[in-house]
Amino acid sequence: MNDADHAAARRDLVNALRDRLDASERTLSAIGAVPRHEFVPESVRGSAYADRPLPIGHGQTVSAPHMVAMMTDLLDVERGDRVFEVGTGCGYHAAVVAEVVGPGNVFSAERVPDLAAAARDRLDRLGYEVTVSAGDGREAFADAAPFDAAYLTCAAPEAVPDAVVDRVQTDGRVVAPVSERGRQRLVRLTPREDGIDREDHGGVRFVPMR
Ligand code: SAH
Repeated sequence: MNDADHAAARRDLVNALRDRLDASERTLSAIGAVPRHEFVPESVRGSAYADRPLPIGHGQTVSAPHMVAMMTDLLDVERGDRVFEVGTGCGYHAAVVAEVVGPGNVFSAERVPDLAAAARDRLDRLGYEVTVSAGDGREAFADAAPFDAAYLTCAAPEAVPDAVVDRVQTDGRVVAPVSERGRQRLVRLTPREDGIDREDHGGVRFVPMR
């Protein structure tokens, strides 16, 4: 496949997502802008624009595009908003969010050092100004808080860690898969002055948070 083939496959993917989800045009145009084939290993590049998760090494996976679109919409962010991601992986999801919020506004933590280093190089080469930190997301970017929104791309055991929720400002959004009694649910938390609102967005499957 050459660049034109990849671009055509990406357009087909965006059209399929438009029919299937009620995702915003802002998110769909971000999906349409990010070259997913540049983020996945050579061996699965031919499937880069299929709507499914793909292996990225170290036993980890990049989410299916519809899941990236859905989570990006749930973040409810706009240009200039600052976003914290836990689980950079290959950097694809961070690039999609960066297309929405603009350069310098995405801060992403990845605990596997090789993935963090590769994602940092890749994002840089592709022109995305995303700050990648190697290490546990519970400890990253305390000095960059508060954020307008945060999300996890790995499933939190039992509950979203307080360390992540605390990095988000009042009325901000936290989108995360959470394991509950052996099943994962996608939740959105909104910290308010008087507590935390919680919405359930259905069953999901993510790699576990470590
Ligand atoms: N958003 C990624 C998805 C990667 S899969 C992408 O677009 O490719 C989830 C990632 O979360 C894995 O790379 C895993 O190593 C990472 N992870 C798991 N627990 C973590 C933790 N405590 N802190 C930071 N990253 C974590």
